[in-house]
Amino acid sequence: MSADSPVHIVWFVRDLRLCDHAPLTEALHQAQQSGGAVLPLYIVDPARTQAEDYAARYWHFVWPCLQELRHRLEQRGAPLVVRQGPAVDVLKALQERFPQMTLWRHYETETADVRARDARVQAWCRAAGVPLHERFHRGAFPGLKSRDDWSGRWDQRMTQSLIPSPGQIPAVADVAPGRLPTVEELPLRDEGFDPDEMQAPGEGAAHRCLQDFLHHRAAQYRASISSPARAFTNCSRLSPHLTWGTLSLKTVLHMLRERQQALKAQPSGGDWQRALQAFESRLHWNGHFIQKLDDAPRIQHESYIPAFDAARAGAAPDAHLEAWRTGQTGYPMVDASIRAFRATGYLNFRMRAMITSFASYDLWLDWRDFAPIMARWMLDYEPGIHYPQVQMQSGTTGINTMRIYNPTKQVTDHDPDGTFIRRWVPELRPLPTGYLAEPWKTPPLVQEEVGCHIGQVYPLPIVEHLPAVRKARERLTAIRKEPRVQAAAARVLKQHGSRR
Ligand SMILES: Cc1cc2nc3c(=O)[nH]c(=O)nc-3n(C[C@H](O)[C@H](O)[C@H](O)COP(=O)(O)OP(=O)(O)OC[C@H]3O[C@@H](n4cnc5c(N)ncnc54)[C@H](O)[C@@H]3O)c2cc1C
Repeated sequence: MSADSPVHIVWFVRDLRLCDHAPLTEALHQAQQSGGAVLPLYIVDPARTQAEDYAARYWHFVWPCLQELRHRLEQRGAPLVVRQGPAVDVLKALQERFPQMTLWRHYETETADVRARDARVQAWCRAAGVPLHERFHRGAFPGLKSRDDWSGRWDQRMTQSLIPSPGQIPAVADVAPGRLPTVEELPLRDEGFDPDEMQAPGEGAAHRCLQDFLHHRAAQYRASISSPARAFTNCSRLSPHLTWGTLSLKTVLHMLRERQQALKAQPSGGDWQRALQAFESRLHWNGHFIQKLDDAPRIQHESYIPAFDAARAGAAPDAHLEAWRTGQTGYPMVDASIRAFRATGYLNFRMRAMITSFASYDLWLDWRDFAPIMARWMLDYEPGIHYPQVQMQSGTTGINTMRIYNPTKQVTDHDPDGTFIRRWVPELRPLPTGYLAEPWKTPPLVQEEVGCHIGQVYPLPIVEHLPAVRKARERLTAIRKEPRVQAAAARVLKQHGSRR
């Protein structure tokens, strides 16, 4: 290959896989047609790793995914090339070496920092005459004019054929592969994460996780989805794989359809079908939410209806945020959920919603202060889901019913035997189960007898739930009644509301 031969750079970002990878497959096809080569690239870009919402735990997960990707690409003849630095600088250096370069990548719905980075890359490509081809692998459609036809477009995209992983890849000779920095070598922050609790990373693990769910764990899915303890094993646990792209959403849909088809032939398949139906609807939500951030990137930093921002800004004492962040609110279900999330990177939907509701309504915290903290806890941090969900659970969309969770009721409903609380709030282990929902009501004699003094080993409630949420509801309801807010809510509904 001469210096002037075409080189197709495939830039892996949050698509760390070989199966169902359109940019890689198309780049390979073009290279084969034109006698060129393919250069798979990963950029460790400070625009991402140094952002406020990036945590070391992501790299704990991504690093082995990249090692595996590198190995699989090596087997096909074109090892992954890793570079560190701002993306434009990395691409510029590659173009000096390969003047006939074309760039391929997947489109992503990203945060402001990454969008700005991507805009710089696009501007540079235009100026340098480097063709940039983007393909879609999630459920968002940039520049969507109307939500009315979103579902149909989503179905159309997700039912396209799966793209098999490629065979031999013609590589570029004499390019240093570059070292993948370890988590210790990057200036990354984290809090409370235990890598031993992390779920298995990589494309192979993603496929095993999917098959295991579809053939075994899904049987318990519907019964477990709200239980913070059982969700750990019986929900699909595909979210980090979808976020980091070790599995495409389309692959999940295709495998799901195959399984649904096979179950039709089984007389006892009804319960399974219902479980898989519940799972399938959540796969739609994935794209439904990502579309919201794609349509309105400002909602990462301001409420759907900005009138809500003034109400909470700077209103809560710092101690409230600190108690919430460290799982020391005095409400066992809230504290167990926060501590589990911080340690493992995972929490089921209901408990994510509950800790958000607690922060927003009980503690009257501004979601803009705690959303980035929460983002750093989740191994599956997907900005397009995260910010719209945080706002929905905080009552700032103006179109959703206010969902206020009672943290005491969540214990009796979803952890009646205290398994989850005892696991994550060990201070309360000696308490009889009946007192775990409201430990401050434990009679002093019982506290003395079991040696668990509430207010000493474990905090008293930081706020009183019912009066706090009553006040919060009144304040938000008053804002919602303002004519300008109602007009804004109508616009939000038109732009973002589900049409189903
Ligand atoms: C405040 C808040 C923030 C959230 N932030 C994220 C996030 O950053 N990334 C993320 O993947 N999910 C987020 N979720 C949604 C949901 O909690 C997780 O998708 C789910 O718990 C992941 O576990 P699972 O893969 O086992 O889910 P399953 O129940 O097995 O669902 C399968 C897949 O469907 C999608 N899904 C499920 N529930 C939802 C939902 N409510 N909204 C959108 N998609 C959904 C996810 O892609 C998930 O992996 C958030 C929820 C809340 C309340």
